[in-house]
Amino acid sequence: MNSRIVEKIFWISFTIASPLIPIFFYFWGNWYSFFHSYSMGMVMGLTGYVYFFNTLIISSRIRYFDRLFGHDKALLFHGYLALSAMLAVTAHFIFKQIYGYNITIQTLSGISASILFLVVIILTLLFMASIIPFISGWIKAIRKGAANRLNPDYSKVKVFHNFSVVAAFFAAIHAFLASSTQENNSRIILLNIWALTSISFFIYHKFVRKFVSGRALTVTEVNQLTSEIVEIRMHHTKGTAIKYRAGQFGYFSIISKMYSKEEHPFTISSQPGTDELAITVKSLGDYTSKLKEISSGTKILFDGPYGVFTPEQDGRHHIFIAGGIGITPFLSVISEWDFAGIKTPLTLIWSTRTAEEMIYRDLFTRIESKNSMFLFVPIVTRSVNAITGGSRIDRSILEPLIRKKEIRNTVVYICGPDLMRKSVIKELKSSGIASKNIYWERFSF
Ligand SMILES: Cc1cc2nc3c(=O)[nH]c(=O)nc-3n(C[C@H](O)[C@H](O)[C@H](O)COP(=O)(O)OP(=O)(O)OC[C@H]3O[C@@H](n4cnc5c(N)ncnc54)[C@H](O)[C@@H]3O)c2cc1C
Repeated sequence: MNSRIVEKIFWISFTIASPLIPIFFYFWGNWYSFFHSYSMGMVMGLTGYVYFFNTLIISSRIRYFDRLFGHDKALLFHGYLALSAMLAVTAHFIFKQIYGYNITIQTLSGISASILFLVVIILTLLFMASIIPFISGWIKAIRKGAANRLNPDYSKVKVFHNFSVVAAFFAAIHAFLASSTQENNSRIILLNIWALTSISFFIYHKFVRKFVSGRALTVTEVNQLTSEIVEIRMHHTKGTAIKYRAGQFGYFSIISKMYSKEEHPFTISSQPGTDELAITVKSLGDYTSKLKEISSGTKILFDGPYGVFTPEQDGRHHIFIAGGIGITPFLSVISEWDFAGIKTPLTLIWSTRTAEEMIYRDLFTRIESKNSMFLFVPIVTRSVNAITGGSRIDRSILEPLIRKKEIRNTVVYICGPDLMRKSVIKELKSSGIASKNIYWERFSF
């Protein structure tokens, strides 16, 4: 087992088992009471408390976890942990109902924390989280109905999501004032340290990080590539180069009254190693559709780089499959590899709806013409004039491009719309590509 897998297993196990630490402190000396249903209420309460505070730590973009698990997987785990915390808190509440309780500041703070946390979870499931495997079917149906009726602004829901920290304050007060906690100093210290650590992580992430490690960039060029796609080129305001790996993304927030302060994730489409950084953005909603109006000289705060969608030239046959604006990570990777010399067999399949959307076609055609290792397969789904026009990425396109003799040495990277990604993965697997050799990046969390 390699060390990364060991590290992953350690952190997942530690996070899941971490409530055992306060539970141990709680029952130390009176283990005989452990199986009493009253005690089960405490076990649930402590589990909910610890999981809830762990979610705040995980959501604060810790680079170590990002590199280990990938940003999207860390956020997904954060979501599952929040759901588990809510279930434990609900069980805690039910057990407390059975034994009855008085309305005090202690109980009121617990109830307020739980209600706020529940509302945050419901709104997140309905309007924010896009990766919800297992329960996605029925949640998706409710989401669709709710989104159609209410059509909420994503950034407003995201702001409300941050109210979890208010729920955290209430939860900390609730635990601090609990008579059972007061009985023992070690419990008070432990629960407070847990709460303070995670709230500090959250506050650092939301309010301090941008001033400490966020970098100020200045817009140098804005290129309107199509009516919907804009390329924004920037460089570090202080002139120093920004280190990132081809395929990574960052969070960008524009410092201008014209734009909300909310940060948005975009892949870095430029070639690493230069003092320039570029993003290529397609209009999707309020924020992205206004980006074409941005002017040179505008300041942008950058937090990053993040992500592990970073292919490397290792001699294996690499197949990159992009759908629409999903070309951006590959643009950076191919530019870098072209600069260094392409030493790995590389096939790029890029599907766009229209020929106009194939914005960097000339660049890829030029690289292909001078490099026999690189094959470019453009597909325009709504045209019959372009090469492979009118078709989609299906078996008839993939099969001839997969080199059967090198199938074990073929690695595929996909970035594009969810439907395309799912159908392509299905085709790849049935063609014999191992799951462990298929990587993908999503443009929503
Ligand atoms: C890792 C990653 C890389 C991306 N790279 C690119 C890229 O290179 N080019 C490109 O055009 N797009 C990219 N996107 C998508 C881009 O972030 C969204 O299109 C953009 O944020 C939409 O904002 P909006 O207000 O215009 O649209 P809205 O209509 O408000 O949002 C549309 C969807 O975008 C997502 N989104 C919106 N705001 C945020 C936010 N603040 N934080 C996180 N997600 C948000 C949500 O899933 C939302 O449902 C990337 C997304 C991710 C997660």
